Formats: sequence, structure tokens, C-alpha cells
Amino acid sequence: MIIAIDGPSGSGKSTLGRMLARELHLLYIDTGSMYRAVALAVMEAHLDPADTEAVAALAARIDIDLEGDPDSLKVLLENRDVTEEIRTEGVTAMSSVVSTNPGVRRAMVERQRQMGQRGAVLNGRDIGTVVFPEADIKFFLTASPKERAERRFHEDRLTNTNVSFEQTLTEMTERDRRDSTRADSPLKVAEDAIVIDSSALSIEQVLARMMEHVHRHH
Ligand code: C5P
Repeated sequence: MIIAIDGPSGSGKSTLGRMLARELHLLYIDTGSMYRAVALAVMEAHLDPADTEAVAALAARIDIDLEGDPDSLKVLLENRDVTEEIRTEGVTAMSSVVSTNPGVRRAMVERQRQMGQRGAVLNGRDIGTVVFPEADIKFFLTASPKERAERRFHEDRLTNTNVSFEQTLTEMTERDRRDSTRADSPLKVAEDAIVIDSSALSIEQVLARMMEHVHRHH
């Protein structure tokens, strides 16, 4: 079974993707962390993100692995654990830039298809539209921008006490804009996706709704 979860940042994709994968004993693939690993590699190689050819060549060449169960997923870049590093502000901003590069996307999509072919919960922006258009179930999670920024703000504040809510909201809005307007694989709702707005729902309520759809599918 392949389950696609797409949506903007702060929509609850990773929390719910993890829970669903655990519940269903499926592999969990967080595709955003792969774009983040590419971004880190680009920064470490001091490449200009505007040099699309060099960036795409690097993305095609580097080794990115996801290891462990949903709750303790480790991201490995050339066998180095970069799980923490890819969550920094700089990498977050760069990931949203390198992910507009069609060459980078081609390399990542190919790996995601290989990794997920035997069954998985995959989350990202283009899973139901591009990576697995034939997925068994497609969810599109969303929430109001204010609610999403609030969630992200509380997360960010755990590691960076200097960050302001305004800053989180501005950066998130910019990332959403870039994800939704890019030419290659923009964030959009797949025709056959189940849309869940979690603005007024708890995580448990969203999970229950998703599980209902999964059971109905069987
Ligand atoms: O989901 P996460 O915030 O970790 O993703 C980081 C960035 O990677 C996003 O801002 C988005 O630009 C990009 N991304 C993407 N396609 C995916 C997953 C993430 O373009 N399937």
C-alpha cells in the first residue's frame, strides 16, 4: 500500500505521516528531508544555487539515506548523520530554493519511487501528483496560515529562542509561495486527494479521519 500525504509546511504532514506509518507498519519516507539534505550539500560545497547544472549534478551524485523507524528517522548524507543539521534556518531556506531545480527533482523523485515501491507512507509536496500518481490513498493536509505558522513557531522556539512569530510567518509564507508557484511540480491538490483542514482539529482527530479512509479503502 502506498499512501501519499501532501500539503504546505506546518500542516501536520510529518507528525501524521509518522503516526500513520507506525499504525500500518509501513515504511515512512519524509521527502522534504531529502531536499534538505541536498540543500546542506550545496551549502557545504559552496555552490551558487543559481548554477542549476552544478546543483543538479551534485544532487544526482550524492548519497542520501533515510534510516530507522518513523519515530527515530535518521537522515544520512554520504553516511553522515545530518538529522539535526538539516533543520537549521539556513538549510530550510536553501531547501526551498534547490527544490525548484528540475534536475534536483528528477534525481529525488527517482529515489523516492525506488524507496517506496514496496509500500510506504510518503510525505511531501508532489507525492500524489508526481511521485506516485497511482498511490492507493492520497491525503492533502492543510490549515490556515496563522495556525500553521503558530505550530512552526512553537517548534522553532525549542531550538532558537530569538525567533519571532512575525519572522516565522513571513518565512513560511515565502516558502509556500515558492512551492506553489514553481514551474516543476508545484504544490497542488491532486484531483483524487482527500483534503483535511486541521485548523480546528487535534492531531488525534486528524489521525482518526485518515484511518477511517484507510479502512474504507481495504
Ligand atoms: O517538508 P519540508 O519543510 O521539510 O520540506 C523542505 C522543502 O523541500 C520545502 O519547502 C519544499 O520546497 C521542498 N519539498 C519539495 N517537494 C517535496 C518535499 C519538499 O519541493 N516532495
